[in-house]
Amino acid sequence: MEFAGNTIVVTGGTRGIGRAIALRFAREGARVFAAYLRNENAAREVAAEAAGLSGEIVTLQADVSTQEGAQGLIETAAASGTIDILINNAGIIRDGYLAMMADDDWDAVIRGNLYPLFHCCKWGIRKMMANRRGAIVNVSSISGIAGTAGQTNYAASKGGIISFTKALARETGPMGIRVNAVVPGLIETEMIAGMKRDMVDRIVAGAALGRLGTTCEVADAVAFLASDRATYITGQSLVVDGGIL
Ligand code: NAD
Repeated sequence: MEFAGNTIVVTGGTRGIGRAIALRFAREGARVFAAYLRNENAAREVAAEAAGLSGEIVTLQADVSTQEGAQGLIETAAASGTIDILINNAGIIRDGYLAMMADDDWDAVIRGNLYPLFHCCKWGIRKMMANRRGAIVNVSSISGIAGTAGQTNYAASKGGIISFTKALARETGPMGIRVNAVVPGLIETEMIAGMKRDMVDRIVAGAALGRLGTTCEVADAVAFLASDRATYITGQSLVVDGGIL
């Protein structure tokens, strides 16, 4: 019951890694607000699955790359008090080699991966500041450290998340708010189902552990960084990649 009584926001919290994170917190007693873009069935399923747990998952449709979506989510979650933990997990890919990349694919990925952090952290820390306490975990990617061919847009956005995390940690540390990132390798979700198979196979072959990661393995790292077991850790990026890097 590590998170009993906590109010936690998870963006992209009804599918893939975000779903595992939301369920992890709900299992430990938290009230989780999980935002999703459009898949209502996935939202209903995760809320129903949480019904048997000690916490709960409240699902909300909100585009967190927009100010209205992010602010609405934060205000709704904070209505019963404050926000203890914010997990910025929502993200997208639009892979392609740079020479052929459409402007739309560049814009969509930069906007879809960086604006949610800007908006959700901006409104989230305003709530946390009142309590002088809070934890934020941002979901980056090893592409943001090592770079991946065919992912210049994604690598730029995910590298940006790591730098954003360090800068915000310095800003909010004096107010008792910690900011960290997790950096997943290749995790078995619908997102990688959209990647080229040969690219996935090549990356897995180079992993020390020789396999894809699971969503629960990322959720465990997120939960650790968000918890009171990590009270002296801020500005860090924890790589969870089975030894790919
Ligand atoms: P996914 O596509 O399965 O799920 C992403 C979720 O985010 C979806 O529910 C989607 O609706 C939501 N979302 C996206 N944009 C949103 C927006 N603007 N507003 C609200 N919700 C939005 O992806 P996943 O594989 O679970 O990835 C989750 C995070 O982990 C992403 O940030 C991704 O970049 C990162 N990541 C994934 C992998 C991997 O191998 N799967 C590796 C490294 C990093």
